[in-house]
Amino acid sequence: MYFISMSIGFLGLMIGSFLNVVIFRVPRGESVVTPGSHCPACGHSLRAWELIPVVSFLILKGKCRKCQVSISWRYPAVELLTGMLFFLTTAFTLRLGINPARLVSNLVFVSVLIALSFIDLDTFRLPDVLTLPLLGLGITGAFFIPGNPSGWESILSASGVGGFFWIIARAYPQGMGLGDVKLVAALGANLGFPAIFLAVFMGSFMGAFVGIFLLLAGRKKFRQQIPFGPYLALGAIFSLLWGTNIFDWYWTWIK
Ligand SMILES: [Zn+2]
Repeated sequence: MYFISMSIGFLGLMIGSFLNVVIFRVPRGESVVTPGSHCPACGHSLRAWELIPVVSFLILKGKCRKCQVSISWRYPAVELLTGMLFFLTTAFTLRLGINPARLVSNLVFVSVLIALSFIDLDTFRLPDVLTLPLLGLGITGAFFIPGNPSGWESILSASGVGGFFWIIARAYPQGMGLGDVKLVAALGANLGFPAIFLAVFMGSFMGAFVGIFLLLAGRKKFRQQIPFGPYLALGAIFSLLWGTNIFDWYWTWIK
């Protein structure tokens, strides 16, 4: 099991490299397939070895081979984050039994959330081309993948929590956008009850905590926008991986 998790963790480094392309190009409305990866400064097309996750960044000492412009440390960071989350997701999914379909759907879920989080940080937007397929993944998975929430649970959870956030977005449009509403509905569809509550609770708590911290540190002004997507994503991944443990612990503690 450890070997499988490690192998998929390494695969995650490469998926992370692709997610960097998604994060950069999707908000610009560009294709994520063509053209191949190139330096955004000089257009130098990257050779195969320059695409090796993390390692190429270290060999190149964080600079483009042609024009010497600095490559953001965020590229290897996203690759490492994706690799780590692929390792954890595999380990935690297989712990509940060998279920390849659920493993793949969980890995896709985590990948889309990583892309959405960084796009939201960069642009304060959660593009429909990512949130709506994520919603579709949850509902389809609920009907076809054993171990996922059941179909009615997925739909009810998506519409319930989505509806609740929609009301907040209507009442307080400067604080929450429709992108957040679609994201939270997608999370509900994928996580079901009660995991979605844990995700939203943790996301809101972390968002508020960081918001207050930035406010006190003078980094943000009151009413200035803080992206909510990354916190919801973090809460959702936490809930996906550790949710069952937390609820088991809670029920035994209640009894
Ligand atoms: Zn360059």
